[in-house]
Amino acid sequence: MKTYTEAARELPVAGEYDVIVAGSGPAGASAAVTAGRLGARVLLIEWNNAVGGMSTSGLMSHWTGTVTSPLYTEILTRCAALCEGEGKDRIVPWINPEVLKSVWLDMLREARVTVLLYTFVCGVVKEGNRVRAFPSERAGNPTEKCSPAR
Ligand SMILES: Cc1cc2nc3c(=O)[nH]c(=O)nc-3n(C[C@H](O)[C@H](O)[C@H](O)COP(=O)(O)OP(=O)(O)OC[C@H]3O[C@@H](n4cnc5c(N)ncnc54)[C@H](O)[C@@H]3O)c2cc1C
Repeated sequence: MKTYTEAARELPVAGEYDVIVAGSGPAGASAAVTAGRLGARVLLIEWNNAVGGMSTSGLMSHWTGTVTSPLYTEILTRCAALCEGEGKDRIVPWINPEVLKSVWLDMLREARVTVLLYTFVCGVVKEGNRVRAFPSERAGNPTEKCSPAR
């Protein structure tokens, strides 16, 4: 296979955080909210135009499985409170994707998580076993690098 050697280039450091989460699906959004609530400076990077991953943009119909947790209960409760019509205040596993997007965003904002949409994590910079930075590409912007502070 033919190859091409990319020229080295300086990447601006866009921000420094304790925790950087790549992808805002249920796993990433929950991790970011939890880390933010624990006082960490958190960046959540999502290439799509909305948070939530499959649970919102993927139009997931309902939460399946038997897992229970305080965070899951909180998500259902907040969705029920925001729902209008039949779903109002009914704690059910069915998902209204637009309501869930709002709930994720509210929880992330309250946990003081910085959210970057339209941003693609395109690599990992490691020092030994530690991830030191996530190079990322953002639509309309030059390449950025976000370095965890420690
Ligand atoms: C077709 C289908 C139907 C499903 N239906 C259901 C259902 O009805 N009920 C149910 O409970 N589960 C369902 N699931 C399973 C459920 O979607 C997953 O268990 C859940 O979404 C996993 O969450 P996650 O956060 O790990 O990943 P995802 O929800 O996939 O989120 C990953 C996120 O990371 C982002 N991302 C990926 N790579 C990058 C990158 N390099 N840079 C920046 N962002 C990135 C993506 O845009 C996405 O937002 C379904 C799955 C599929 C595929």
